[in-house]
Amino acid sequence: MELTFLGTRGEIEKRTRRHYMHTSLLVSYGDAGVMIDCGLDWLGKFERLRPSAIVLTHAHPDHAWGLRNGAPCAVHAPQKTWETLRGCDVRDRHLIKERTPTKICGITFEAFSVEHSILAPAVGYRVSAGRASIFYVPDLVFIHDRAAALKNVQIYLGDGVTVTRSFIRRRGKTLIGHSPVRTQLTWCEKEGVSQAIITHCGSEIVTSDERKLSAKLRAMAAERGVEVRIAFDGMKLKL
Ligand SMILES: [Zn+2]
Ligand SMILES: [Zn+2]
Repeated sequence: MELTFLGTRGEIEKRTRRHYMHTSLLVSYGDAGVMIDCGLDWLGKFERLRPSAIVLTHAHPDHAWGLRNGAPCAVHAPQKTWETLRGCDVRDRHLIKERTPTKICGITFEAFSVEHSILAPAVGYRVSAGRASIFYVPDLVFIHDRAAALKNVQIYLGDGVTVTRSFIRRRGKTLIGHSPVRTQLTWCEKEGVSQAIITHCGSEIVTSDERKLSAKLRAMAAERGVEVRIAFDGMKLKL
């Protein structure tokens, strides 16, 4: 399995006025390349990646609105994502049943429900091909069935919107927003995942001195027995 990180800093383009594409991950295996998420920045552009299929984590604009004009390939998503996806003319729709490993172009995806948004309920994916297994979750407060999601996973690919500050808000009985990287590293420690890669980076990462922040993150991770890296646009990883 080969991973290509795309648009790792999609969240903050307006504040910095620099243009980063919305966050996606391309998972390649054999001849296939499956794109996870396709935000609005990718509208009219994702086709050049020639994805064999697209898989969605949730219906927020920065994850799904690149599909406004449809897609030249199959698009896979959980029922709750199809129900909340607005204004996208996707013809070749496929349903991913949560907690049911589903083979897409030779790569297995298992969707785990995560807390993140009421209007756009989200999942994370356990992605396996050959001997490699990763967990990808760009936006979340927490994973409902964390132990099963992270069991024997080699790398946790997580939400970089905030490092230490809490971006969690309460709406009635549910929580919305993003958990800090620090919390996610603690989950890795608890579930025995020794490597973490941070993507979908927010202003706390992007506007800080990258070397200082990397050192701080590495120390935070080392305390938990985890190795951490911040993803960059175009970063590739073979597993
Ligand atoms: Zn979101
Ligand atoms: Zn997002």
